[in-house]
Amino acid sequence: ITVYVPRDSTALALGANDVTAAIVAEAARRGQEITLVRNGSRGMFWLEPLVEVATAAGRVGYGPVEPDDVAGLFDADFLAGGQHRLALGLVDEIPYLKNQERLTFARVGITDPLSLDDYLAHEGYLGLQNALAMQSADIVQAVLDSGLRGRGGAAFPTGIKWKTVLGAQAAQKYIVCNADEGDSGTFSDRMVMEDDPFVLIEGMTIAGLAVNADYGYIYVRSEYPHAIAVLNEAIAIANARGFLGRNILGFGKDFQLEVRKGAGAYVCGEETALLESLEGKRGVVRAKPPLPAIEGLFGKPTVINNVITLASVPIVLARGAAFYKNFGQGRSMGTLPMQLAGNIKYGGLVEKAFGVTLRELLFDFGGGTESGRAMRAVQVGGPLGPYLPPSLFDTPLDYEAFAAVGGTVGHGGMVVFDDSVDMAQQARYSMEFCVTESCGKCTPCRIGSTRGVEVIDKIIANANPENQGQRQQQIHLLRDLCDTMVNGSLCAMGSMTPLPVLSALNHFPEDFGAPPAIAG
Ligand code: SF4
Repeated sequence: ITVYVPRDSTALALGANDVTAAIVAEAARRGQEITLVRNGSRGMFWLEPLVEVATAAGRVGYGPVEPDDVAGLFDADFLAGGQHRLALGLVDEIPYLKNQERLTFARVGITDPLSLDDYLAHEGYLGLQNALAMQSADIVQAVLDSGLRGRGGAAFPTGIKWKTVLGAQAAQKYIVCNADEGDSGTFSDRMVMEDDPFVLIEGMTIAGLAVNADYGYIYVRSEYPHAIAVLNEAIAIANARGFLGRNILGFGKDFQLEVRKGAGAYVCGEETALLESLEGKRGVVRAKPPLPAIEGLFGKPTVINNVITLASVPIVLARGAAFYKNFGQGRSMGTLPMQLAGNIKYGGLVEKAFGVTLRELLFDFGGGTESGRAMRAVQVGGPLGPYLPPSLFDTPLDYEAFAAVGGTVGHGGMVVFDDSVDMAQQARYSMEFCVTESCGKCTPCRIGSTRGVEVIDKIIANANPENQGQRQQQIHLLRDLCDTMVNGSLCAMGSMTPLPVLSALNHFPEDFGAPPAIAG
């Protein structure tokens, strides 16, 4: 009998190791033989640690399980899928999972992350096998045809980036994976790295074949020690089995991979600052041009993509561009793994085709707020994303549709707030975040953010009606300052910080002491 207990950081934080130990001890005490697999998380965090048992009908779940529940689970014959107050039935039938379209996350939570055989048994490495039989230009064309756009936030077409690197003449080229996942409320990169590392390794290897690069780096934030450990182990396994290294699977192609640890600066998620950091320098943003695709890491042509982008490549090569493109809408093709966080009842990972609305995500999947109070705002796309009010919750998730309402899809992270939130304080927090994380290279960001905090403090201090004149003056000043930051900053850190600030001011003016906005 196979029992699954996740090894994902979220499950570990909620006691998965203690639950594992309790299950092993109880099985031994009762003389029952079990095979224990440490799988990844299914991404339903309110159920973690989620224990699953393989039965003839499928995998049956129990959760959230605590060590004290284990003896009772054995009494209830959970190894045969028996009834218990924590029983969830067939895991694949839980609506939260069943209603998703998992392409990139197809194996996450199902397989043992460090079993290459498990990976192969679940359609792993089919993409690489196809790519090995193709010309580089054809691989690039397949990615281009799939419509895949960068999932890290910029949404730039991946195929165009790859085509530029393929066309660049150089003896050495690199593939760099941006795994610095620093946006608030995001964890999809971490889940891929911890729960299905071979899909990222496969995606990077395909990228190497596509642009003729034989070396890759995965730049992982230091706050992800489990991801770093799993990746290193997976890379060693892939090397030992001939999926990485010299002469991959006997096809005469080389690709080597290395994990590098970042030091925790948010700006190192910006691709050129990341390259500086990877070269051993301070993480400061580079001016563009030259583009990294022409002069990237160590001055060589470099593909730099986010984890989810690269992890979405294997399925494109395995099933074909048309299959992938069939999901989504407009120019937003395929799926996006979205992350529900903050004040939300059912926080977790939801992979859906583009086109799903915010309301469906926040209520049908997320179940509304954890506090039970009315939902007042959601910040989509990390700390530089605007705060969206309920009147915009019917916006479909689509890069263009979001841009049309002043939103950003970013990396698909959503942080939910109920009606107890003070949006003036949230605006202040956004500016303060920029003060802390600015790389310091340009004035509007470095100085502007500090002045921004001061101005917001003055607006808050002048909230009472008799100071209306001063408050209006300061609001005017804040808008001017935001304008300078948007137009005068070198990178998204400075140019996007005004988005959450202005969205708070525009959608929630009553929190800044102004009279409430007139509905309609
Ligand atoms: Fe650095 Fe900010 Fe300028 Fe970006 S906008 S280059 S983070 S100072």
